[in-house]
Amino acid sequence: MSLNFTAVNDAPQLWMPAWIPGSYLMREFARNITAVHYQVLDSQIRDDDTHPKVYRAHKIDKNTWQLPKAKAGQAIGVHYEVYCYDLSVRTAYVDQQRLYGNFTSLALAVEGQEHRAVQVSLAVPAAFLAGKDESRLLLACGLESTHLRLDGQHSYGLQAGSYHDLIDYPFEIAEQDKFDFIIQDSTHQTLHHRFYLSGKHSANMGRLQQDVTQICQCYLDWLGDAPFNDYTFMTFASGQDYGGLEHINSTSLITPRRADLPTLDEPKIPSTDYQRFLGLCSHEYFHSWWVKTVRPDVMLDVDLRREAFTPLLWVFEGFTSYIDDFMLQASGVIDKPSYLKLLAEQINRYYQTAGRAYQSVAESSFDAWIKLYRNDENTGNAGISYYNKGALVALCLDLTLLQKSNGRYRLFDVVKAFYTQAKQNDNKRIGINSADMGTVIGQFMPIEDWEDFEYRYVNGVEELPIEALLAANGINMHSNSKRRLTSMCLGACAVLKHLLDSKSIA
Ligand SMILES: [Zn+2]
Repeated sequence: MSLNFTAVNDAPQLWMPAWIPGSYLMREFARNITAVHYQVLDSQIRDDDTHPKVYRAHKIDKNTWQLPKAKAGQAIGVHYEVYCYDLSVRTAYVDQQRLYGNFTSLALAVEGQEHRAVQVSLAVPAAFLAGKDESRLLLACGLESTHLRLDGQHSYGLQAGSYHDLIDYPFEIAEQDKFDFIIQDSTHQTLHHRFYLSGKHSANMGRLQQDVTQICQCYLDWLGDAPFNDYTFMTFASGQDYGGLEHINSTSLITPRRADLPTLDEPKIPSTDYQRFLGLCSHEYFHSWWVKTVRPDVMLDVDLRREAFTPLLWVFEGFTSYIDDFMLQASGVIDKPSYLKLLAEQINRYYQTAGRAYQSVAESSFDAWIKLYRNDENTGNAGISYYNKGALVALCLDLTLLQKSNGRYRLFDVVKAFYTQAKQNDNKRIGINSADMGTVIGQFMPIEDWEDFEYRYVNGVEELPIEALLAANGINMHSNSKRRLTSMCLGACAVLKHLLDSKSIA
């Protein structure tokens, strides 16, 4: 990796993030950097070959390097190597098939210059092209790119408004399959979407296009418009791995090629595994509004060198985990019985976690860094996932809102109210805290009812009133007395009332 910049002070410093937004664990990306070297490019001090002398940077803490020989005003060239062999969506991976990366683990930041525009050139090594079908060689990235092909070499140019912007655009260069589709917002503006799939696979691309398009359109029908003009799905079909990470106008996904992608004879109702992949697409897509645009206040101008503690991850991951599956049925991609099955699984997971009696969902959010992301044999005994319980708190809040407002309001109105606030802000995003939750929810139900709800189910560990609230909406939970917890299911119910009425979320 090479980095060129002009120093604005003597002995400038470079730093590397310790974590990537969306994944709340200190991953210490600096551990993958070998040595950092630098040159003062306009210096008179030359080595024997008349090149500017090369110095080794000094490490001053775990992820900061200092360049003592560099002075203010000088042009500096930095060279460093990064070990890239993590198959997850969080860091970077390089082999003969894929060049994949997040800039959080690739690009050093220049201290004090993080807000300056950044230009990136991605040069594809000639050896990487051997045996490849160059017509399928594509760069997937949410940023607009330029492509240069010179003397058999490919290079791609990217531009970002700042270092903070740059790190929100992962990229992948590989042989890829791709389809494009267009989504219309409420003002009939067209939003271009691109879906890339890399890795060996035999997915039914036509079916994938049809289902993903339907899900995305459903979000636009509900939310009216989007915080992006174009959106990129980047998917790597792997052996067993699974995961996704959200970005402002893209998502990076990894999915098992055999199980989770649609087959050529995929049934009308998607297989359980394919539903999981569609749920992942739905989840990460919604994050563009709900995490990237409306986000916890501590994530607004976040310092990626230290943890950002918030009790609100249940709001962001929990609402998203509730809404992702909901939108699968609202869009018509799955039917209502399939949706109820997904909901039943979520409910079963909750009842199977003894730790729900010990850790509140707000505490689970706050301690994500040291607990949920560092799970061990005691995790389920002593704690609860803010994804799982968060989704069910969202369900209960949705049903409570319906009840308290005589069917006028839902959780979806709360989300839309926050998104509307964000759009009115200069930088088109807002950071919210627990008090803001009360202010907005208080517009849709009596504030004292919300405070009681928050006291019991968000900050407290009282059992969620799932059964009673569902019953009031015509959905009955049935359980098998022999294996009560594992076989609980929701009865097939014709009267789903408001809960599954997709029109009521508009
Ligand atoms: Zn998420």
